[in-house]
Amino acid sequence: MGWDFETDPEYQEKLDWADRFVRQEVEPLDLVWPHQQFVPLDDARRKVVDPLKDEVRRQGLWATHLGPELGGQGYGQMKLALLNEILGRSQWAPVVFGCQAPDTGNAEIIAHYGTPEQKQRYLQPLLDGEMFSSYSMTEPHAGADPTLFKTRAVKDGDEWVINGWKFFSSNAKTASFLIVMAVTNPDVSPYKGMSMFLVPTDTPGVNIERNIGLAGERLNEGFHALIHYDDVRVPADALLGGEGQAFVIAQTRLGGGRIHHSMRTIGMAKKALDMMCERALSRETAGSILADKQFVQGYIADSYAQLMQFRLFVLYTAWEIDKYNDYKRVRKDIAAAKVLMPTVLHDIAWRAMQVHGALGTSNEMPFMSMVHAAAVLGIADGPTEVHKVTVARQVLRDYDGTDGMWPTEWIPGKLEAAKAKFADYLEHEVGNL
Ligand SMILES: Cc1cc2nc3c(=O)[nH]c(=O)nc-3n(C[C@H](O)[C@H](O)[C@H](O)COP(=O)(O)OP(=O)(O)OC[C@H]3O[C@@H](n4cnc5c(N)ncnc54)[C@H](O)[C@@H]3O)c2cc1C
Repeated sequence: MGWDFETDPEYQEKLDWADRFVRQEVEPLDLVWPHQQFVPLDDARRKVVDPLKDEVRRQGLWATHLGPELGGQGYGQMKLALLNEILGRSQWAPVVFGCQAPDTGNAEIIAHYGTPEQKQRYLQPLLDGEMFSSYSMTEPHAGADPTLFKTRAVKDGDEWVINGWKFFSSNAKTASFLIVMAVTNPDVSPYKGMSMFLVPTDTPGVNIERNIGLAGERLNEGFHALIHYDDVRVPADALLGGEGQAFVIAQTRLGGGRIHHSMRTIGMAKKALDMMCERALSRETAGSILADKQFVQGYIADSYAQLMQFRLFVLYTAWEIDKYNDYKRVRKDIAAAKVLMPTVLHDIAWRAMQVHGALGTSNEMPFMSMVHAAAVLGIADGPTEVHKVTVARQVLRDYDGTDGMWPTEWIPGKLEAAKAKFADYLEHEVGNL
């Protein structure tokens, strides 16, 4: 009997350490240096952040998403899920633990498809936490449907020349390099005619036109770049993987990225539930504390059940990835987790905000940011609708239609068959139809 819902005591000790460490040492960074986690460290921040990273390394929890050959622990997705749900409480925690998106996914594809030279130049500094990267795929006119992408890379002697526009390339302004998806052969299906390129951000022609911010951020001070690639020349060896492999590479990257977001979302939603319960036990109105009101009890019960369902599903999906070591084989459940993620976070954060009254809606509490994060999670890495289509298609693969007029479970038909099966024993008509 293989099912087990317990963490082994040795790893649980590490998780308990991580939980204390994130609450006491890392969450304060979110308050003194908000939204700075992807900005290369200046002297002041380095003095604080480097010792924290060293402590994580000493505990054996640095870059746990990677195998030992790449400087990680080779813990696999299940252990990463348990750790990530702790890190999800804090903006800075993934950076301090060396497992922040989008760098994790970018590191994963360079590890998988990169040449030894590409690994030395881009992967090692990423793993050391000394460099940030950006994934430049979405275009201003098309995101959910990559077959519509127009950015072109054309071979010119020993070089590729890239021209086009990319939108929402996160962290491009602080990244050292970009992974750019471009059409290299417009005459074949887009699934075979696009390639990936490693492009240093300071290459002439990489023009960041705007840094789009999310709601609440100041105009043009955000982290999601609109980039004009204007005759950007890169050498032939800037190609990542083979020509025409962009879709395969993108699937490798986005599979991991999506489930890692789900893991961290558990942490954020748990934080909202914790706050909801604390407030319910603290605030008194109309003759009793909020925890005694049935509406509020409903919020707590619904939130707990929703969170547990989601958490168990994400852990199960992580277990499947470890078992099959193949994101494609697990894509139905990765897509289903991606679909659930925004709703779970939205619903729990919204109820927690409601229970806090006016204070909950203010910028002195994190609920609005969580609700906004939920909206973002329904778009980034592909909109919910597209993932629902993936889930439905995969689910339908396990079914066949019927040839006849009536469904297989049509009761009159089944009753006739049942009667025929037991005809020898039936003295008279049975059943309720
Ligand atoms: C915070 C954030 C960070 C991001 N970071 C990056 C990044 O680093 N690199 C990068 O390349 N991209 C990034 N993106 C872009 C993201 O991948 C795209 O926004 C996403 O793929 C959707 O593309 P779109 O915005 O063009 O929406 P569209 O493709 O225009 O879709 C708009 C809406 O149409 C509906 N829709 C679309 N397709 C279908 C369908 N098949 N069936 C039914 N309805 C549909 C959905 O409601 C969808 O939300 C980021 C986005 C966000 C919000």
